Amino acid sequence: MYGDLRARLATTLQEIDNAGLTKYERRLATPQSAHIQTATAAGQAASLNFCANNYLGLADHPEVVAAAKASYDDWGFGMASVRFICGTQELHKDLEGAISDFLGMADTILFSSCFDANGGVFEVLFGEEDAIISDELNHASLIDGIRLCKAQRFRYKNRDMADLRAQLEAAKASGTRQMCIVTDGVFSMDGYYAPLPQICDLAEEYGALVLVDDSHAVGFVGEHGRGTHELFDVMSRVDIITGTLGKALGGASGGYVSGPQEVVDLLRQRARPYLFSNAVAPAVAAGSMKAIDLARNSDALRQQLDANKVLFRELMTQAGFDLLPGEHAIVPVMFPGEEGARTAAQIADAMLEQGVYVIAFSYPVVPKGKARIRVQLSAAHSQDDVRACVAAFVAARAQVTGS
Ligand SMILES: *Cc1c(COP(=O)(O)O)cnc(C)c1O
Repeated sequence: MYGDLRARLATTLQEIDNAGLTKYERRLATPQSAHIQTATAAGQAASLNFCANNYLGLADHPEVVAAAKASYDDWGFGMASVRFICGTQELHKDLEGAISDFLGMADTILFSSCFDANGGVFEVLFGEEDAIISDELNHASLIDGIRLCKAQRFRYKNRDMADLRAQLEAAKASGTRQMCIVTDGVFSMDGYYAPLPQICDLAEEYGALVLVDDSHAVGFVGEHGRGTHELFDVMSRVDIITGTLGKALGGASGGYVSGPQEVVDLLRQRARPYLFSNAVAPAVAAGSMKAIDLARNSDALRQQLDANKVLFRELMTQAGFDLLPGEHAIVPVMFPGEEGARTAAQIADAMLEQGVYVIAFSYPVVPKGKARIRVQLSAAHSQDDVRACVAAFVAARAQVTGS
């Protein structure tokens, strides 16, 4: 009897639409890349893509594609099994080994996604005697994973070390067995880094573990692209790292938890998304291996990405746009104030018409009055692509605001 539910769902959908919050899927008619074709009412349009997490441009890299293709002959298409029954090939072990080696961790366990990695890790490691102290802007998957475990929950203001200390004090006062500080390495709406050295200092002072989700950093942040723990020179002080293969490292799918041996060993015994969900497909494992290999050995890709973000910031600042300060390949272009959300959306639309694809974010994804267009640079962009993006911003602003 669908009847009543149908009416309720239709009402909710209408409310979402009335609030201007409906999300649409724009269809790509090409592989993911800096230059894509998108489907439009009129047919296809060429776009320069500035909204993918394809930071190193590996999503359609010929060597990654070739490695995935070759894997079909050697390893077949699918595993049709979870890892511990008959879903583990040499490929999966090699990939786990490559990630551990890259991140400087004892061992790694793969999941189907980082969402699953974060969904599985907390419940296994922490019980009601423990406390998790979590940044308020952490990714949804960390929030959900923390909810799934019975530990006490404490939340601190985004990157606010005084508040982190206060929450650690509160957790300590409640007599917990083990505390764990949990943070994104990079906050994806702002491109801000978590202050890992200060977090590690506090962790040591209070005897807490540190877990960092480095999904928006692995492959391209830090001198060798190992991530935020390398950038901040705290590689031996971060206890557990979670991350994704679905962004800079080829962008296919898969996630992982890397950490001390006993942590990974126990996750293999108890983590529910690992025990009850299919193994990562062989082609994804093979392509991701190649992507990690390229990331480890391609200073050139990181240099191109760095040059692109420097050029973008410089030209946009010259053109009078309001950028959040920062160093990351995520560059938020701000449109503050009451009219900001509308302006940002109109500018993004006008830019798409000119062949530059960027996305505007407004409340509730970001705070009220802090609407923005989030630009994501890639090593796949040429410097001319970056200039074209800035030119489109300038033209769209003139068209929308008349200035
Ligand atoms: C993208 C992202 C995830 C989700 O990764 P998937 O592998 O796509 O599930 C988790 N955490 C953070 C911080 C992310 O940015």
